[in-house]
Amino acid sequence: QRLANQIAAGEVVERPASVVKELLENSLDAGAHRIDVEVEQGGSKLIRIRDDGSGIPKDDLTLALSRHATSKIADLDDLENIQSLGFRGEALASISSVSRLTLTSRASDSGESGGWQVEAAGQDMAATLSPAPHPTGTSVEVRDLFFNTPARKKFLRTENTEFGRIDEVVRRLALSRFDVSLSLRHNQRTVHQLHSAQSVQEKQRRIGLVCGPAFLEHAVYIDMEASGLRLWGWVCLPTFSRSQPDLQYFYVNGRVIRDKLVSHAIKQAYRDVMYGGRHPAFVLYLELQPSLVDVNVHPTKHEVRFRDQRLVHDFLFRSLHKALADVRP
Ligand code: ADP
Ligand code: MG
Repeated sequence: QRLANQIAAGEVVERPASVVKELLENSLDAGAHRIDVEVEQGGSKLIRIRDDGSGIPKDDLTLALSRHATSKIADLDDLENIQSLGFRGEALASISSVSRLTLTSRASDSGESGGWQVEAAGQDMAATLSPAPHPTGTSVEVRDLFFNTPARKKFLRTENTEFGRIDEVVRRLALSRFDVSLSLRHNQRTVHQLHSAQSVQEKQRRIGLVCGPAFLEHAVYIDMEASGLRLWGWVCLPTFSRSQPDLQYFYVNGRVIRDKLVSHAIKQAYRDVMYGGRHPAFVLYLELQPSLVDVNVHPTKHEVRFRDQRLVHDFLFRSLHKALADVRP
């Protein structure tokens, strides 16, 4: 069990940002409309995520921290197969095996006026359940990440670098789930405070807050549809000189991806219209029938495979070409 937990922890919990990513996914799975993220010292001292999701019933709290599928990893030989397993159902167990974790929750249908709490520190699972005040939803507090695995702790970069990665995880989510209110605080300072957005104007406001006002100033909004494909979002004109390294967000059916075919189509449209190879900046959403895309090429590498690559490439190229040509300075 101990071996399994630590192996899994290595996979899921590479750094503070991976903790944040897993916890955010859990909050979304629970149907949260509002998620507040608070971190201290780049996440290595504290990561606290509170959501207003469905919560965890008292009787399931301890279970939530335990490994669901221990049998998957019997010994070190199975290390080879780890990547194919994908580690679903093990995030909380893995995180708690390398931190001091407190899980507090109140289920929406519990009929109780307060919540319940369990704590775990490293491998010693203190399964004691205690009452704790909490509104409907869940709070997960992760303190002292890697306190019991010094080798791993040594691999962490500076506080700023680790926080930057957390920020990136939160931005990606902020740009894909406009329906969720999100906040991020670092060392008591508010970094993001984003209200849920429905209309294009509200979404645009969020884009400005996440990508910066300069991005919006130089961006065109597009919304195109053809052959069952829809592309919408914001693409920047070459007048935008980015200060941030990479403002390139491409979502396929709500999931952020990095894909050669997509980059190629975008670059080509840019080059064609703008005479020259400016680095594109964009936040774009491609929507298509789920059966036309395979998103499970690799669970963590953000890859996809389109059934009809030619169709997608041409559609992206044409849509962007038209949008950019229409506003050519
Ligand atoms: P998985 O999400 O793959 O099931 P996790 O270890 O991440 O595995 O979480 C274990 C279980 O704990 C989840 O299946 C869910 O039932 C519960 N859980 C975790 N986080 C939350 C949350 N924020 N809200 C409600 N339930 C949660
Ligand atoms: Mg999970």
